Amino acid sequence: MEKKNAYVKAMDWLRNELMESLLFKSDELTLSKINELKKESKDMQYAVSWLEEYSTIKLKDIDKEQEDLLPSSYSKRRDVGDINEIKNILLKEKERKGSKILNLSSKTLISSINPNISIDNKFLDIPEEIIDNIEDSTFSIFKLDEKVGRENTLGIIGYYIFNVYGFYTLIKYPIFENFIKAVSRGYIRKNPYHNDLHAGDITQTCMVFLNKGKMNNLINLDIYNLCALFISCMVHDFKHPGVTNNFLINNNDPIAIRYNDKSVLENYHVAETFNLINSHSEYNIFSDLDKTESALMRKKIIKCVLSTDMVHHAEQFSFLKMCIDKNSISKGNNSYKIFEHLEGLKKSEMQQNFMDILIHMADISNPTKPFEIYSIWAERVMNEFYLQGDKEKELGLPISFLCDRDTTTIPQGQLGFIEGVVIHFFSTINEIFPDLQFCIDNLYENKKRFKELKEQDEKEKEKKK
Ligand code: AMP
Ligand code: MG
Ligand code: ZN
Repeated sequence: MEKKNAYVKAMDWLRNELMESLLFKSDELTLSKINELKKESKDMQYAVSWLEEYSTIKLKDIDKEQEDLLPSSYSKRRDVGDINEIKNILLKEKERKGSKILNLSSKTLISSINPNISIDNKFLDIPEEIIDNIEDSTFSIFKLDEKVGRENTLGIIGYYIFNVYGFYTLIKYPIFENFIKAVSRGYIRKNPYHNDLHAGDITQTCMVFLNKGKMNNLINLDIYNLCALFISCMVHDFKHPGVTNNFLINNNDPIAIRYNDKSVLENYHVAETFNLINSHSEYNIFSDLDKTESALMRKKIIKCVLSTDMVHHAEQFSFLKMCIDKNSISKGNNSYKIFEHLEGLKKSEMQQNFMDILIHMADISNPTKPFEIYSIWAERVMNEFYLQGDKEKELGLPISFLCDRDTTTIPQGQLGFIEGVVIHFFSTINEIFPDLQFCIDNLYENKKRFKELKEQDEKEKEKKK
């Protein structure tokens, strides 16, 4: 108990220091203060050491004993919820004291928590207005593309996340830059949908679910898990050829042959990613990790990317239902129990399940966005399907579901997707994470909009008859 108090005290102290350094623009958390505090008691020494570790050194998995000693909100380093909490305190402080704290954002916070961490300059050079609403659910990757140019779009999302989550403690910055640029180039830009913009969108959306949707307040992913999850988002459709698994299987495509018709594309995306990582040291984002760490990272990325195959949708849905039923979860009540009753799983396995769900959610999330953004994705995805349908016609193959431009309209396709896939999934997950309500509101609005468009189409068809 005493140790716990020491952590709370040390954390409070860190917060005050942080506040001070922001308010008075002093750029250092003074070493003498750290030493002063350490002298107070043995517990305090331990707590402060832990906090120093928290803000500087590469994360090692906190061992069970330490974890039990910590108040739950401080149980992991760089806890996103905690950073948000600090951000809120500072915002209130800003209101109270006027505009002394300028341009307050997560990156300011990270550098204030530890001024010794050098945040990449190029990132800081990106003007605020370019990344101003990057953490919002109304963010449009199409607008970012217009502002910064296509070759920089995925990179900027990547740089932002790399910095705000502190991945520079795991990956050397220049290597990350080489890697993300190569990933961006590896996406086929002429695909209307499965391209670098989709990868950037999924990555940004995942951040929104974790932060605004407060999913990480419960799942509590540490820096390793966050890093694996975001890298997975960035690469999850790497080198996508613009046609579906079934198309590749039906055409005996070499990729389908290589992966024995099983999660063909998803296996391909992740294998090509690791081919890139291993191809040259300049792309080896794991070069700073030891063998165990990089093996763990690889395992997590493989799991996340493979889970984006739609064949796992029903299984993920049942898992969520099971969590809800077993813990009597409703509108966010009892959600915390998921991580208390682990259903025979280890905590890390439960976290991985939620990482898989997160990336899948982001991957099917375009109908949960404001209509102006969703309608662009809808057109793009349907156009890619139609192009596949054209190829199927040419090859004399049966035309796949949604791929016939002569019989399936965009509103028809979208209403089917919203009603058959997305609403059920998001309504279920919303029971556990009520802060995702903004997704549900958009979904119903979008359903209404596409229903109207479908009715218009039908009226016009009638007139033509
Ligand atoms: P991925 O191919 O990795 O992007 O996986 C996501 C799945 O969701 C694919 O099967 C997509 O075709 C499907 N999907 C995502 N958005 C839409 C949409 N707006 N309409 C129809 N299918 C979609
Ligand atoms: Mg995919
Ligand atoms: Zn995708």
